[in-house]
Order: sequence, then C-alpha cells, then structure tokens
Amino acid sequence: MLGALVVLSACGQRSESARVLGPSSSGNQAALTHTVAPGETIYHIAHVYGISSERLMAVNHLSDPRELRVGQVLLIPGAGRGAYTAAPIAEGWFAPKAARQFSWPVAAGQLSSPFGMRNGVMHDGIDIDAPEGTPIRAADAGTVIFAGRQRGYGNLVILEHRDGYVTVYGHNERNLVRQGETVARGETIAQMGATGRASGPNLHFEVRYNNRPQNPISYLPDPGISPGITFARNSAD
Ligand SMILES: [Zn+2]
Repeated sequence: MLGALVVLSACGQRSESARVLGPSSSGNQAALTHTVAPGETIYHIAHVYGISSERLMAVNHLSDPRELRVGQVLLIPGAGRGAYTAAPIAEGWFAPKAARQFSWPVAAGQLSSPFGMRNGVMHDGIDIDAPEGTPIRAADAGTVIFAGRQRGYGNLVILEHRDGYVTVYGHNERNLVRQGETVARGETIAQMGATGRASGPNLHFEVRYNNRPQNPISYLPDPGISPGITFARNSAD
C-alpha cells in the first residue's frame, strides 16, 4: 500500500484550470432554465444559481430531490437578481455515487478544491477547509497503515479498510493514531492543520481502490444532506 504513495504537488492551490459548470440560460433572464446533466443534484444546481434547494424544488413541483432526471429542464426562480454572481462549481464536484460509502472525515468544513486535473497536475483527492485543530475522523473502520510525515502531505494518516479501499488524510497539525492501530468509523484520528504543501488549514482527503485514486465525492453523502459541509466561495476559482 505504501508503494502507492506519490509526492503531492500543488496541494492547497485552487483549481484554475478546471472547467467550470456555469448556468446555462435560455437567453432571457426572466425565463432562465437549466437542463440537468449527469451527476448533478438539486443541491448542486441550487448552489450554482445561488438559490435554496427548497425553492428550486417548489418552483419545479418536485417533492423528492431524487426525482431529478438527466435531461430534465428546470425553471430557475429569481433569475436576473444575482443568479449569475453565484460561485460556479468545478466539474470535479460532480461524480456519480458509488455503492461503497464512507462518512465525511470532518463534521463541518468547506469544500475548496475538487479531485482531478489542476494546473496540469493531477489532484488525487479533495480539500476541505476548516479551522486548525478541527477533529479529523476515520471515514470508515480500518487499520492505520501509515502515520507520520510525507513530503507534500505533511503529517499524514493512511487507513486501510475492507475490500481494497484505502483513505488518506493529509496536512494534519497532529496525528493522533499510530501505525498498526485499528480505528472505528468516525473515530478522531488527527487534528486539521497546514503541514506540508498547504496554503492554509485544510484536510487533503483521498479514497483509493486497489491503489488507484478515486473521486472521493462518489463515496461520500451528498453535501446537501450533510449539515456543515458546504462549497467554498472560491471552490472553482
Ligand atoms: Zn489536496
């Protein structure tokens, strides 16, 4: 498993090269519509347009966010009043849900940098901003296969889970577990920091399957139904 470790470059920077999913307009501000693309959720779309998901659902007569279909045309309420100033969300935040699910490694934080190519460099995880010292929790039960320092990652914890999954927690202020320990899902394993290549306190979080980095968003509950997990204003800048 340790053979899979690579030096993380450019971590903590923002994704300037990520293609940004912006609002699509009918051309008339009074009748703005949005055609649902694969991977989009009510929450994501509402965020893109700077409106509440409740309002978006009400206007479109949706009672359940799961009713959304690819290709469905949604009416966007309040178009023309700040709708275009909402921060767009980078493509990396849209990912289909995997059957295997982990829990969020922090109770509250802002999603600041998505998985994927960033300034020509692959970002193997997601970055979650929160204050220094924020407890970092095991995304699932597992065994600590690394707890120490790695170039780029700073203080780093790596957990091995059942069926070939590994989760990675980087830039920690302090690691609170040791190699060989077993941890429960949700157990605090570290404190958030800015060690290694980080521009400020954030958690660099990876999900790997058979040593291959996956988009963690596929393995986590939707931010819209996870209290405390929000998109940073600059998540696509
Ligand atoms: Zn990162």
